[in-house]
Amino acid sequence: MKIHRIRMTHNLLLNYGLYQKMRIYTHQKATAEEMTQFHSDEYIRFLQCILPDNMKKYNKEMQKFNLGDDCPVFDGLYEFSQLSAGGSVAAAIQLNRHSTDICINWAGGLHHAKKSEASGFCYVNDIVLAILELLKYHQRVLYIDIDVHHGDGVEEAFYITDRVMTVSFHKYGNYFPGTGELTDIGAGKGKYYAVNIPLGDGMDDDSYESIFVPIITKVMETFQPSAIVLQCGADSLTGDRLGCFNLTIKGHGKCVEFVKRYGVPILMVGGGGYTTQNVSRCWTYETAVALGVEISNELPYNDYFEYFLPDSKLHISPSKMKNTNSTKYLEKIKNRIFENLRMLPHAPGVQVQAIPEDGIHSESEDEDIVNPDERNPQSITDKQITPDNEFSDSEDEGMAPRVGDGGRKDNRYSHCFIFPIIIFHVGI
Ligand SMILES: [Zn+2]
Repeated sequence: MKIHRIRMTHNLLLNYGLYQKMRIYTHQKATAEEMTQFHSDEYIRFLQCILPDNMKKYNKEMQKFNLGDDCPVFDGLYEFSQLSAGGSVAAAIQLNRHSTDICINWAGGLHHAKKSEASGFCYVNDIVLAILELLKYHQRVLYIDIDVHHGDGVEEAFYITDRVMTVSFHKYGNYFPGTGELTDIGAGKGKYYAVNIPLGDGMDDDSYESIFVPIITKVMETFQPSAIVLQCGADSLTGDRLGCFNLTIKGHGKCVEFVKRYGVPILMVGGGGYTTQNVSRCWTYETAVALGVEISNELPYNDYFEYFLPDSKLHISPSKMKNTNSTKYLEKIKNRIFENLRMLPHAPGVQVQAIPEDGIHSESEDEDIVNPDERNPQSITDKQITPDNEFSDSEDEGMAPRVGDGGRKDNRYSHCFIFPIIIFHVGI
């Protein structure tokens, strides 16, 4: 979970030249006030003051907030959390304003953090905070999680609401965090709005697609979200140090490609991923997928070139590990999920509500377009924004309905294609 992963990703996608098709921002750090939209005051106050030097003094609190072991205290922990959360919240604000259709915060995706508890390397849940921001303008937000671990923190936060549907594909059974059973479906008003797809070791690209595509298709049809948050945890890739799936980067990226086709605004965030060179490969490729750009399998020269040796290729091959998920098993869980989704009212009614104010970030982000890489100053900033005609904002030229958009007639988001993407670079 080291910040190094994000730095490597950023450097790789710059060297592929992807910066030419997007805007790159730094953003303000999330404030304590913003973070307590979800987290408890007490917990955030503690994160503010805890340091490796003083943690011995706070044994009791360390236990209470689950710091230590899996969630170590390190220098800059609070600042890192502020940057990670600030990026996702600022991204949500950009989507709310229709100033783009896809935002990416690879430093976000910390899906395990709970209201008053750190968990699985996650301290502040940037995803929950971003979804809360999206809910100011969107009646229904869909959360999709393809990390190898269950997206428990996000699921728990929205377990009893029908305005957020959480869909998590994950390894289940004797595996962290231990939740995410097929029978966990939400409660109260949120019953049937939590979807869990528990999987066994060795999921390969074909198996994953065979379950991801039909389930997401059905979810989009029944829930009809107007915004999507896609957690792209890369620990579901083959060869991950902690994972146990066998996905290639292409297979992982297919999920992004599929979700993107609906033309609904998407916030893409990172998440787990413990074989760093593959994490940066994966997120670079998925940035390209989001941009609709093909990139070469030959990695360009970059600051971390030695990490990608000996082959220096973008794509990776699956291992020979056994896929323990039989077609019959996958069919069974798919059908069970379909049954649950049939219980939902078709596209829940939209209630008109007063819109609360935007988060604190909303004032100054336009000033924050930055040099995307301090190591390569002017050459890159000069060419940073290159809008193509295909991203015209003219209503007349509007986007043709996309494949798989469920026949949506409204073209509300067509004017958001001026720049297809904003990547929130946390300036590290
Ligand atoms: Zn994970």
